[in-house]
Amino acid sequence: MQDGEIRVDFQKVIAVATKRGIFQPAFDAYGGLAGFLDYGPVGVRMRRRILEMWRKHYVINAGCLELDGALIGPESMFQASGHLGEFDDALVDCKECGKQFRADHLVDGGEEMSRTELAKKIINISCPSCSSPLSEMSAFNLMFSTSVGAGKGSPGYLRPETAQSIFLAFPWLLRQNRGKLPFAGAQIGRSFRNEISPRQGPLRMREFTQMEVEHFFLPTNEPSLTMELRNTKITLLSADGKESQTTVGQAFDEEVVTSSLVANHLARAQNFLISIGVPPGKLRFRQHGSNEMAHYSSDCWDGEINTSLGWVEIVGVAHRGDYDLSAHGNASSREFRVPIPGTEKEIELWKPDIGKLGKEFKGDAKLILEAIKNVELKPNTSLNINGKDIVLSEDYMSQKTERRSEMVYPNVVEPSFGLDRILYCLLESSWNIDGEREWISLPQDTSPYDLLVAPLMTKDGLDTKAHEIMKSAIDIGIDAYYDEAGSIGRRYARADEIGIFYSMTIDHQTLEDGTVTLRERDSKNQSRVSLEDALNQVRR
Ligand code: AMP
Repeated sequence: MQDGEIRVDFQKVIAVATKRGIFQPAFDAYGGLAGFLDYGPVGVRMRRRILEMWRKHYVINAGCLELDGALIGPESMFQASGHLGEFDDALVDCKECGKQFRADHLVDGGEEMSRTELAKKIINISCPSCSSPLSEMSAFNLMFSTSVGAGKGSPGYLRPETAQSIFLAFPWLLRQNRGKLPFAGAQIGRSFRNEISPRQGPLRMREFTQMEVEHFFLPTNEPSLTMELRNTKITLLSADGKESQTTVGQAFDEEVVTSSLVANHLARAQNFLISIGVPPGKLRFRQHGSNEMAHYSSDCWDGEINTSLGWVEIVGVAHRGDYDLSAHGNASSREFRVPIPGTEKEIELWKPDIGKLGKEFKGDAKLILEAIKNVELKPNTSLNINGKDIVLSEDYMSQKTERRSEMVYPNVVEPSFGLDRILYCLLESSWNIDGEREWISLPQDTSPYDLLVAPLMTKDGLDTKAHEIMKSAIDIGIDAYYDEAGSIGRRYARADEIGIFYSMTIDHQTLEDGTVTLRERDSKNQSRVSLEDALNQVRR
């Protein structure tokens, strides 16, 4: 079968996902709530294993500093990050039936259009549900709001991405990294977006899991493309519509990808996705056009997988410049800049004499100290404190020599992955059909279980032996699944359908000579081996 071939459709994946305990709509008993899913025993395992692989790539091997930030944030932070003002979708509603739609979903190519362009096109479109006229386009903010604390409380919002906690933690993480740049922060966690039209199960949800990295570096010292990643073969679809099968090194040399760190992260993202089972032939990176790209971003590529529903974005790799750190630096009380190496020099500074200020101004001294934080202190600095004009003479300050550097906001490159979409795309792309047989052929690292343990029958002590073997397997870290129901053929078929990597059958010969039959999922090859050899083979 071809790498790029599509073998199964969305409805089939959703049906098997429900039947085999992967995921199902949440709150089904109460009619459901669009945009929310529950993951079942098999789905939870698959997600865990994808996350483990992601942590292995980004946290363990690449040394990203991992964070687990709070889910609810204050209004001031989302004001500064731009989410309150700009994190919205264009909404239209039907004047007749009241249904609401995302304007860019009703216009061909709408997702790539500017708002002005979209507003012009949407005028000619009527309600897809009842054909009546639609309202004018309005902006709908995608954040879920809440109130923090009793009574009126203070306004808070569920985070729409995990990234903001990493940006806010930058000064803290920098200290953990002994003050050195570059370094990267990483976070896995839930994000919430009040999508206007959640649809297609795990593809557009209102609560979903992201895995994000924020890679910080000095603007004058961007990490270069490593030799190790240069030769990574990659399919790129650039903003001018040109598709190329190239290497990351060549794409960078030819300035198709202009940032060396973005190039690094495209290669890394691809390596990770292939390691969890995404077929390279179904993967491409598509560059954002100028309308689609955030205004602060200088380059952005979406990693997309070809599915029965078309190309689905599963990761975005963006150069965000210093947008986030400077936004928080300007709006909060923290320093988000770093010294520029080599610019350190001695300067003369006037420092306040706190003792004298206290004696003279009593309670106002604290306010004076606050006020002079924002001005360059020198003799006869005038301040306005509580409506009173105060002039601070030389008596209230002294001169000191300090070594200071010029300061700059670091730049950031961000790869942002969505776990739910990855899981869906993996299920679809690893689906295999051979006559009656259907199976998920994920690599062992992302299969939900390593091993099916199956006694041929539940008598003559075979089930007791199988339970014993099951325990030995679990004790050495093998994720094993026990199944004694139905014929051995049926059990293999059920195991194949959720992609269990190996199956082990225990029969009468096992009791006599300690051997078992080990079956490999994809090839169906069976071999008679000692229990010890079988467990060594299965162990990851
Ligand atoms: P974004 O911040 O919009 O670039 O999203 C980063 C990644 O999060 C995307 O590549 C998706 O994999 C995932 N994602 C974004 N929105 C959703 C959603 N509504 N449902 C599921 N996954 C999403």
